[in-house]
Amino acid sequence: MSQKSTLCLIGLGSNEPWGHHNSSEILISSIYSLRQNNIAVLKISRFYKTPCFPKGLGPDYVNAAVMVSSQLDAYSLLAVLHLIEEEKDRTRPKRWGKRTLDLDLLAFGSHILPNLQAYNKWRYLSLDLQKKVVPDRLIVPHPRLHERSFVLGPLMDIAPDWHHPVLSQSVEQMFSALGSQLLEELLPL
Ligand code: ADP
Ligand code: MG
Repeated sequence: MSQKSTLCLIGLGSNEPWGHHNSSEILISSIYSLRQNNIAVLKISRFYKTPCFPKGLGPDYVNAAVMVSSQLDAYSLLAVLHLIEEEKDRTRPKRWGKRTLDLDLLAFGSHILPNLQAYNKWRYLSLDLQKKVVPDRLIVPHPRLHERSFVLGPLMDIAPDWHHPVLSQSVEQMFSALGSQLLEELLPL
């Protein structure tokens, strides 16, 4: 019996080398790992150099985004993303510190997971609390997607028409709403 595939958007980031591999090489290798896990990679954005967020907390990042099609449910897909992070020796010593690889499930079709209430709780979390607490379960769309140039810039390359299921705005509209300072921070490699 064939299972339904879902179009998903994944954000990739790295600001720490892994062995002798630089951040761009780590991202390329992680896209290859997605394919190895039977996840069809349909589109790949350009790679961008972006400042570490929050500023000063570490080296610049390389960021990108991919569009994939998968028969996995969202929770199994996130588990695969975590496995690929582990392959690259990703550790989580401190919030927003240096990392060899960060893979975020930005969107899972137009699903809101686990529900609108949980999404809104994380969306409206103060910056102070964002620094201290991490969701212990999957929240989709990624609660910070709409405010980050390093997410929306790459998404503009591959999915400008994707509609945010809660905000009812396209990637293009969310990208246009970013301040000019944020846009200047986005340098295609
Ligand atoms: P961040 O990506 O926000 O900088 P982490 O990569 O350390 O932080 O992720 C922290 C936790 O957030 C992970 O353990 C993961 O289970 C959870 N999480 C919740 N929603 C998502 C999502 N949409 N994509 C990736 N991780 C998520
Ligand atoms: Mg992450």
